[in-house]
Amino acid sequence: MRPYSGEKLCGRCFCKSIEEKVRATISKYEMLKHDDKIIIGVSGGKDSVTLLHILTKIERDFPKASLSAVTVDEGIRGYRDEALKIAEKNCQKLDVEHVVVSFKEMYGAELDEIVNKTQQKEDNQLTPCSYCGVLRRKTLNTTAREAGANKLATAHNLDDETQTMILNIIHGDPLRIARVKPVLPIIHPKLIQRVKPLCEVLEREVAFYAHLRKIEFHGVPCPYAGAALRNDVRNMLNRMDRRHAGTKYTIFRSMERLRPALEALGKKEELRECKICSEPTVAEICKPCQMLKELHVL
Ligand code: SF4
Ligand code: ZN
Repeated sequence: MRPYSGEKLCGRCFCKSIEEKVRATISKYEMLKHDDKIIIGVSGGKDSVTLLHILTKIERDFPKASLSAVTVDEGIRGYRDEALKIAEKNCQKLDVEHVVVSFKEMYGAELDEIVNKTQQKEDNQLTPCSYCGVLRRKTLNTTAREAGANKLATAHNLDDETQTMILNIIHGDPLRIARVKPVLPIIHPKLIQRVKPLCEVLEREVAFYAHLRKIEFHGVPCPYAGAALRNDVRNMLNRMDRRHAGTKYTIFRSMERLRPALEALGKKEELRECKICSEPTVAEICKPCQMLKELHVL
């Protein structure tokens, strides 16, 4: 991985270089095979829509592969509706099959309702993003499986990955860094393998690509984003990277080197099926079911 050198490229060459970087990432981590059934999580934001455009291009070179998209409608009033339309528009433009799955249909409650319930719980320490992240991961996996996909591509970029690594340290759970990977291993037949083709592309590079390619995306921030610790970590890393160019790459590479040692330290957890929903889990009841039970949603 080469840090952005600041070399001057014309718009067309810059876009080509990003596409090349994504191809190189896919091949370096052996993310995709020529006949994969890939489903992309498309929120409508710049990262996921950009990934959709780049993967559509790449997929054309592999006639036996297929590509579809899924958008999760968490139920965030005044935010998700517009993003959904944009995701839909991009999929139509690229002729990619698109499914929308909502928290309401999956869990019987929208995120707004869940957040309301958490506010009535005095001892609740979790942010809306904690609920959203856990429920969305389950939704994406179930939908990917039901769609018959064997790869679930998500648009985590280099910034997201380094933020998650730092967050794991802040949360006092450094062994979890071993799970922040460009390709997640297949650990249960019900879990669809997740791949992150943008994991070596900086957020600002994605934004520039989307701008140059005139890709339509939803640029409005989620109303719940401000409450997340991730926001502070993002600001800190951006400040560091401005003052010390390449900081994000260095963190990413350091964690790559540390991962084998962390993996050896962590114990392998046996997965079983959740007593409530039958999805894979390490405990008797999976995290999403636990969360919803505590809020009396289940
Ligand atoms: Fe969900 Fe948080 Fe992202 Fe909003 S910012 S969509 S609540 S994870
Ligand atoms: Zn469950």
